[in-house]
Amino acid sequence: MQRFSSNYIFPIHGGPIKNGVICLDNNNTIVEIIDPEGCVKELASMEFHNGVIVPGFINTHCHLELSHLKGKFEKSNGIADFVSQIRNNRKADELEIANGIKSAISSLKSNGVVAVGDICNTSHTIYQKQESDILFHNFIELFGLNPVDSLDRFNSSLALLNEFKSVDCGKSTLTPHSTYSISAKLWEFIKNELNKNRSIVSIHYGESLQEYAFLKDHSGLLAENFKNLGISINLPKFNSPCEVVKQFIPTDSKVLFVHNTFASNVEIKYLASHYKKSIFVLCPSSNLFIESILPDAPMIASTGVDIALGTDSYASTDTISVFDQMMILLEKFPTLSFNEVLKWATLNGAKALSLESKVGSLEVGKKPGLNLITNFDFSLMRPTKKSKVKRLA
Ligand SMILES: [Zn+2]
Repeated sequence: MQRFSSNYIFPIHGGPIKNGVICLDNNNTIVEIIDPEGCVKELASMEFHNGVIVPGFINTHCHLELSHLKGKFEKSNGIADFVSQIRNNRKADELEIANGIKSAISSLKSNGVVAVGDICNTSHTIYQKQESDILFHNFIELFGLNPVDSLDRFNSSLALLNEFKSVDCGKSTLTPHSTYSISAKLWEFIKNELNKNRSIVSIHYGESLQEYAFLKDHSGLLAENFKNLGISINLPKFNSPCEVVKQFIPTDSKVLFVHNTFASNVEIKYLASHYKKSIFVLCPSSNLFIESILPDAPMIASTGVDIALGTDSYASTDTISVFDQMMILLEKFPTLSFNEVLKWATLNGAKALSLESKVGSLEVGKKPGLNLITNFDFSLMRPTKKSKVKRLA
């Protein structure tokens, strides 16, 4: 039995507990949470830490297989340029790819991440996921605007899905890439699959204005990019990305809308009313990297929807630390409270990946991981620029 205490603990499902104590068994499962009602308790095998203890973080959106691209891309040239850079650079030596994944998983661990929603186009991450104690939901991603090879693409994604399912590396399901990269024919295969399995959908949504222009009249830099590559656009025109998802993603699906950088208040409310189980995932450092802009997190929060946090891949961010995403949002939007953003980084991410019975909050029976945040400002109840995350359990 190990006991951990700090100036405050943040269970998430309830308010912060001053000098709270968390008792873990040898398997790091919580067996008791003690509220000493303000006093410091002296208990056997207890570590007291200055700062606040919070549950392990959830990175709801990452692409670990692209980790070897860290530091290789140019910043802030927009989504069309980013798509081209990915297309031209994703292939690399197997060892370089494996080393990138290894160091990314080690960085996630040291930054207190306990679960990851990971987008997969290859089997490169399988071995290291089996070796890791991080929980994974593997989203096998589908994209392709050419209707001629849509059946082949769908079948290769099914084969990749089966490869993931054949080993113990987390839950694995198929998911569409985005509203602008899938032909109507491929969408029909995806729709059938989602109707059959009702699995969680994770889709890039509202990441750039180019996405809106492309869908509306097949114009803009994304469209030009596809034309230059000889890719014909086999997707009807849509007034907004909302219409694409509404047409092809079943209404009772749990949908993770990832990015929402350019999604309007009306759009968010519409999506949330259409998809009752929707969660809006923000990836702040990636949005700054690609578009030099952040999603309007206070506006999205004001609509009452559930928000979770992700990072996207090392191709579009220097950090896959969820705590760094929290700090970007708290610094840019002072009206957001630490409590609120912490819930996005923990329990909401766990709910997004259907892992809330295991992680996401400090509750008896869960094994959520414990993170210490140091240099905390107790008068404002917020972390400071000097705050760091230290993984305790
Ligand atoms: Zn992504």
